[in-house]
Amino acid sequence: MSETVKILESCDDCGACVRTCAFLRHYCDTPRELAKRFKRNLLENIEIPYSCSLCGLCQRICHLDLHPGGMCLETREKIFQTQQRDALPNDFVYDYIIPRLKRFRNHQIFSTSPVFTLSKVGTDNKHTPKSVFFPGCSLPAYSPRLVLKAHAYLQKKIPGIGIVLNCCGKPSQDLGDKDRFQRIFEGTLKGFSRLGIEEVVVACINCHKIFREDSDIKVRTIYEIMTEMGLPESISGDGQEITIHDSCPARYRPEIRNAVRTLTSQMNFKTEEMKFKNEVTQCCGAGGCSPLGNTALADRHTKARIAQSKGLIISYCAHCRERFSIYGPSLHILDLIFGNSSMKHIEEYHDSWRNWLNRWYLKKRFQLMKM
Ligand code: SF4
Ligand code: SF4
Ligand code: SF4
Repeated sequence: MSETVKILESCDDCGACVRTCAFLRHYCDTPRELAKRFKRNLLENIEIPYSCSLCGLCQRICHLDLHPGGMCLETREKIFQTQQRDALPNDFVYDYIIPRLKRFRNHQIFSTSPVFTLSKVGTDNKHTPKSVFFPGCSLPAYSPRLVLKAHAYLQKKIPGIGIVLNCCGKPSQDLGDKDRFQRIFEGTLKGFSRLGIEEVVVACINCHKIFREDSDIKVRTIYEIMTEMGLPESISGDGQEITIHDSCPARYRPEIRNAVRTLTSQMNFKTEEMKFKNEVTQCCGAGGCSPLGNTALADRHTKARIAQSKGLIISYCAHCRERFSIYGPSLHILDLIFGNSSMKHIEEYHDSWRNWLNRWYLKKRFQLMKM
């Protein structure tokens, strides 16, 4: 049964999800109102389904396990399904129905083009399982240096580990464009199969979610590996105060959340916690491509999240880090691990041009590297 129908039939208007979610508070008194609206006319107010961050907090809160965020994703998917059902030209939704989504479509086209992608497996990869590091697209865009350092660390711990630079396709999935997502992700999995890859190491918690939910391949985060095998070098945070932001896809992944906290504690940082953390964590404000829907609402959400922190905000998703850096000091946990915490870097916010250049540069570095 669809989430929309489930909400129409079962929601008792208790209001618990609305009280915890700024998006729901902004657009309705109860998710049933939205369900009626989406059922009546998918395109009545396109801003609404695209303003949800798809963070999943509402489902965690709901005593009936209903999922208003799932209803928003379903509504997005139905818009794309209409394009196929009515045999409309490819990209009709992007070109004529919701042009503001084009930015993400273009990101997906560039991101998966040969200009930025690369697959390379070490020649001495004799051990099983054969592993690759898949840093995703946000971390390479943020810092090629961190990706190179992380890969060098992994090579010492997992000899012969390769590298795959690509996008997992999550933005397409979030837009509701299931076809494009499947094309991208199946392409990645076929590439793995050709190279005999059996394990993927990720640094992005969103990529982790995609591999975990949409494939059978073994997936681990670099943070869990560092907890098991040790930090690369002796680093001391000298008791500096930091606050950890739990990314939404880690809501039900205590092993990842704990690994990150173990690492900050081993590095002697004073770790503070946000009011909403672990299973009830909140989005950074950029999830689900939601700034596309209602930019002002997403901005307020990011500022409210920052207000829960003390000191530097540390993220283990490069996209979250980038989002926070618009309004406050923010670093990626790999910045702490590989010693990159100068204030200059903290205040750095990249424009898109710089992000693409970073990705191109990283590909060239790996192309020239002997493995
Ligand atoms: S928490 Fe569940 S039952 Fe309560 S209003 Fe939200 S969706 Fe309805
Ligand atoms: S997924 Fe997140 S933003 Fe969307 S309705 Fe649920 S709690 Fe609100
Ligand atoms: S941007 Fe970060 S916090 Fe926001 S939805 Fe994605 S992972 Fe979650």
